[in-house]
Amino acid sequence: MLHRSLPGFIEVICGSMFSGKTEELVRRVRRAQYGRQKVQVFKPAVDNRYSDDHVQSHDANKILSTPVKTAWEIVERVDDNTRVVGIDEIQFFDDSIVEVCNKLAYRGIHVVAAGLDMDFQGQPFGPIPKLLAIAEHVTKLQAVCVVCGMPATRSQRLVGGDGVVAVGATEMYEARCRFHHEPHVFQDQKPTGLKSKVQSKVLEANGISEASV
Ligand SMILES: [Zn+2]
Repeated sequence: MLHRSLPGFIEVICGSMFSGKTEELVRRVRRAQYGRQKVQVFKPAVDNRYSDDHVQSHDANKILSTPVKTAWEIVERVDDNTRVVGIDEIQFFDDSIVEVCNKLAYRGIHVVAAGLDMDFQGQPFGPIPKLLAIAEHVTKLQAVCVVCGMPATRSQRLVGGDGVVAVGATEMYEARCRFHHEPHVFQDQKPTGLKSKVQSKVLEANGISEASV
């Protein structure tokens, strides 16, 4: 069996919203396609932002993808001659995605997984911590903070919603740096607000004075 002699491995591309994760996933997958490697891309069925059969980033760069309801469905759908498997929005899978990625890598497949490392409250997102631990390569991308222009690592939610699984594009989130991220406050559609009283209190509680921010 040819595929058994191939070195499988796992790459994870993570970061906040607007950090270019999907663009980077598409770039890596395209690169393999240019090398005439068979590629398959999957995404959780929950993410139907733009279309049902494409991985599409905010700048409309798209590639054919298959929506799946569970992580194990990926294993069932990967063809024998597939060399590269891309998985987008990986934070929306449960922990079984970790075992699935491992299984694919042992099968000789190059796995490229992209997703949010933190939810809008700044907490590690779903299976991502485990995936980062078992991956051969990790790329952590940063966006630009809309308040101060420094590198942003967090996603600020601007409107309320139910739970962390609220998939949205530009109108619902902004990229923020550590100091301008307000994890427990929705901004109620007020874009790039100045530092709120709540955030000042949070900073105070962490021993950070106003002047140093
Ligand atoms: Zn900032």
